[in-house]
Amino acid sequence: MTLFSTAQSILQELHAPIFIQKNVKVYVKRDDLIDEAVSGNKWRKLKMNMELVHFQNKEGILTFGGAFSNHLLAVAAACRKAGLKSIGIVRGDELTVASNANLTHCAALGMELIFVSRTSYAERNEKWNQESWKEKYPSFYFVPEGGANYHGMVGCQEIITEIPIEIDHFFVAQGTSTTSCGVLTALPDSAKLHVVPALKGFDSLNSMRPLLNAFYMDESSVLERLTQVVVHDQFHFGGYGKIPAELRSFGQQMQTDFSIPLDGVYTAKAFFALMKFIETSDFLKPTQIVFLHTGGVKNAPL
Ligand SMILES: *Cc1c(COP(=O)(O)O)cnc(C)c1O
Repeated sequence: MTLFSTAQSILQELHAPIFIQKNVKVYVKRDDLIDEAVSGNKWRKLKMNMELVHFQNKEGILTFGGAFSNHLLAVAAACRKAGLKSIGIVRGDELTVASNANLTHCAALGMELIFVSRTSYAERNEKWNQESWKEKYPSFYFVPEGGANYHGMVGCQEIITEIPIEIDHFFVAQGTSTTSCGVLTALPDSAKLHVVPALKGFDSLNSMRPLLNAFYMDESSVLERLTQVVVHDQFHFGGYGKIPAELRSFGQQMQTDFSIPLDGVYTAKAFFALMKFIETSDFLKPTQIVFLHTGGVKNAPL
């Protein structure tokens, strides 16, 4: 599926005096350059799923998301480009198409938005609920919230195979953990995966475990893989979607220093964690660090 090319996602080296001092080379994998609406990891997660839409002869994708979801917008835009229909089940029955720019944009791209109560949304993955949606929309291919399925993870493995240098540390922001799990299964054993959840109180390792079960036969292999993960859960800046002034000015400074725009919900927080990690670590040998820019800039600019 070459609806969007990942060739634009270059590996860009950053330069700063502290990197020289600390003996590190820092690179950004620019998945944010893949597309404005289907940005970053959202295309990675959709790619294989969209191939299955065709294989299964479906007429479109039905998915789930919150009102500000980058994933909803990505599905709407990708389906529009592929000539497929799209349906978004949205959390909050008090909302309308006009409630915010993200929803308006989704609708303008042809996505049918169905607003459900928070209670009903919380039960979206229950078997009976999935079955009732499937009965109602049998010609649609279902993608879970955030693109969080096996095919989404497999699509994210390509992020690593596209990187031609040796990786010692890899940094990625975390929402559903789909991207981080895909990346983890493709990283060499010697690399550390640093995850930075955007949600307050998010249990990274226990969220990753069930997703990783799709790749490994036994629990001990999953646990062994997870020893490569370093969790940075103190950089949520108050919680999901919270963008305090300190974070905003940090992101703007990074944009000035490195000419890379970050988003306020995910990548600015992960980049903050990266800079703190470099500042507070001693690297005993030359070390290569890759930061994945997962996109989102259009939705939450700084
Ligand atoms: C959706 C999103 C994430 C989270 O990715 P997961 O695979 O859900 O962990 C990270 N960064 C940005 C910019 C996103 O839009």
